[in-house]
Amino acid sequence: MFVILLGAPGSGKGTQSERLTEALDLVHVSSGDLFRDHLGRGTALGTLARRYMDEGLLVPDEVTIGMIADRLSQDDVAHRGRVLFDGFPRTVAQAEALDALLADVGAGSVNAAVLIDVSEATVVARMAGRGRSDDTADVIRTRLQAFRRDTEPVIAFYASQGKLVAVDGEGTPDDVFERIMGSLVTE
Ligand code: AMP
Repeated sequence: MFVILLGAPGSGKGTQSERLTEALDLVHVSSGDLFRDHLGRGTALGTLARRYMDEGLLVPDEVTIGMIADRLSQDDVAHRGRVLFDGFPRTVAQAEALDALLADVGAGSVNAAVLIDVSEATVVARMAGRGRSDDTADVIRTRLQAFRRDTEPVIAFYASQGKLVAVDGEGTPDDVFERIMGSLVTE
């Protein structure tokens, strides 16, 4: 089972993915967490990614896809074949690469792409309250632009395959979680 969680920065993807991985017994694969882990360890990939992350820009596709391919080859994912992708794919090229990666290992294909749908006002308010180093006003603006330009086409990509599950992301984390679970089981 492969589930993708889509949503603008600040839509609550991080919070919901923790709950979903536990409830559905999925391995959590977060591209942002993987980049932050590389950064913390001071790897070459981390040093490269930092330039983009600090500005709120997307890390180039080939770097991101390589990192995800590496993560998918690790035992927990390879053996269980149950993954929640959080923050990936963020471009159509990444979505196509993910299909190819899953087909390569004979693991199956993406079952559902859950979109946490929130207004821009909510996103800006939530991000302002997080205090992460890439949450300054300028960087927030750039991250939202990247979402609109590069990730909204990913939403259309999954919608055209009938895999998109859009959920209202306003309200409390409990409300949103219940909506997601409700729409996944009625799939
Ligand atoms: P996140 O924690 O998902 O908001 O990601 C933090 C930052 O990591 C983003 O602003 C990007 O610079 C980078 N990043 C995370 N995931 C991706 C991705 N799938 N493609 C490109 N860059 C990414």
